[in-house]
Amino acid sequence: MMGDRDFRSLIKNAVDSIGRELEIDIDVKDIKTIHLKEVVQCLRRSYYDRIDPQEVERKGFSDLLAGLLRKLQYGSKPKEFGIDDINLRGQADMIIDDSIILFRPASSTLESPNANDLLYLNACMWIYDKMDGMIVYISGNREETSFSVTREKKMFEEVIRRVRVLNDLLKEQKTPILEPSSDCTECQYYHRCYVTKKNTKQVSLAEMLGFGKDD
Ligand code: SF4
Repeated sequence: MMGDRDFRSLIKNAVDSIGRELEIDIDVKDIKTIHLKEVVQCLRRSYYDRIDPQEVERKGFSDLLAGLLRKLQYGSKPKEFGIDDINLRGQADMIIDDSIILFRPASSTLESPNANDLLYLNACMWIYDKMDGMIVYISGNREETSFSVTREKKMFEEVIRRVRVLNDLLKEQKTPILEPSSDCTECQYYHRCYVTKKNTKQVSLAEMLGFGKDD
């Protein structure tokens, strides 16, 4: 009989290998092509992903949702947007009736969309030259929450600025500064960014100098 632990590691291995298949393909040497995914998340994380990668820990099948939809026949093809000599490459999950659609997993019902999903959706609207878009969050209990958005120029200008910064830092082989956020706790590079101290036993100065209590 399969033990609980074996069963869990079987699922984890399945999620990891499907996740690797579904990952957006990034040619780490081609620094003139920057992927939208890289600039809506922490730039330091994207830099490490190219220079000295460490595999991300996937939590479950819900993390694979967007990748699976992109691979299906109604998934959209990647598209590039030129920024001087750099190409920003994005891929919407779906395009329906001239609207960009993204699907994202959520652990609970959200009051507003996540900032990096909003940046991603808005940039897709500029890359594919569409005016409207929608983010659909699907939670584990199959509840869905959707947010409709119209495109906004300032937000896209910020994405363009981040594309240039990442390209410069990759060119100069300089590690980007920390971008502390709630994503840090689940980031595979947490220990490279933050020094953690083990709980150590408190030792008094008298003990260190070898004076016992009875001296
Ligand atoms: S731990 Fe935070 S700051 Fe460091 S790479 Fe990850 S997301 Fe960026």
